[in-house]
Amino acid sequence: MVLTPDFTPPLRLTLDSAALVANWRWLAAQGGDAACGAAIKANGYGLGATEVMGHLAQAGCRDFFVATWVEAEALMPLADELSLSVLHGVRAEDMAVALAGKARPVLSMPEQVTRWREAGGGVCDVMIDTGMNRLGLDWRADCTALTAGLQIDTLMSHLACADEEHPLNSLQRDRFAALSEAIPAKRYSLANSAGIGHGAAYHFDLTRPGLALYGGIARPGYAGHIRQVVTPQAQVLQRRKVPAGDSIGYNATFTAPQDMDVAILNIGYADGYLRGFSGTGTVRAGGRTMPVVGRVSMDLLIVDISKAPDVGEGDWLDIIYDLPTASAASGLSQYELLTGLGARFERLWI
Ligand SMILES: *Cc1c(COP(=O)(O)O)cnc(C)c1O
Repeated sequence: MVLTPDFTPPLRLTLDSAALVANWRWLAAQGGDAACGAAIKANGYGLGATEVMGHLAQAGCRDFFVATWVEAEALMPLADELSLSVLHGVRAEDMAVALAGKARPVLSMPEQVTRWREAGGGVCDVMIDTGMNRLGLDWRADCTALTAGLQIDTLMSHLACADEEHPLNSLQRDRFAALSEAIPAKRYSLANSAGIGHGAAYHFDLTRPGLALYGGIARPGYAGHIRQVVTPQAQVLQRRKVPAGDSIGYNATFTAPQDMDVAILNIGYADGYLRGFSGTGTVRAGGRTMPVVGRVSMDLLIVDISKAPDVGEGDWLDIIYDLPTASAASGLSQYELLTGLGARFERLWI
């Protein structure tokens, strides 16, 4: 399909590269002397991993994290100065790709360590589980013996509750600090977006933010510093009148209390604008905030534009998507709001 200025999708994501870079710089500054990396798994949290990596690399970011080898392969060839880690480690079926390429597996279980060591795999990263009971070598095991002889670039762990004040945070930190004394590695890394805000004791050598780079308010203190990066926009397909007493949309969940004008927008739950926004979402039209009425459909959205007389077919409206607001409206997490953004959007970097 060839897209030309006259033939583009009727929905787009406007992606603010200056805001992305400003967020990374702010997080880097909060991390003090630690280097600041970027989690770009799940296609750069829905924005586009290649473009996110390009913008952040230009700003000076050197360390990137994806989940799988398929994600890593999509970013090849990697520029010489960049480092890419694959968080899920290495399965048997990944070994050929992993040994041939420049990305490093984050070895996360004894079987993976054995697999890597027996294949003569070279430099790797290692994940220690310090209390989340997800991926990582169990901190109670003899991790020093398990990792003996590995050439470890980054030894890391991951916080389970960084976005709240929880006793597990300092427990995990202390467990990781003890292991960092015992296990030789080039660098040590613990903090995600929210973890950075817990202070210098959590920073070690390298931080790994994801959510906050993309506009997520990972901790209350980040509000006012982190800028919105993603704005979904959809085109108006139709402006129509709805007489008082008529219902609107699937299952007739909304009835017009008076004569109304509505806009039918080209966006729906198949684009990640999920049904949690039914009757709760908002859209900017003619400088005003307009409510979503009725159910979100698969491909369409209905908005009350009675107060925006100049909006009509072909106009582009901004979907209100500052992440804390959209999260409260929809019941979705800020993470889900980003990673659910669908394939039908044109992704337009400004
Ligand atoms: C996703 C992920 C991150 C980034 O987390 P955010 O909460 O998005 O900042 C960091 N480290 C690991 C291991 C991850 O899986």
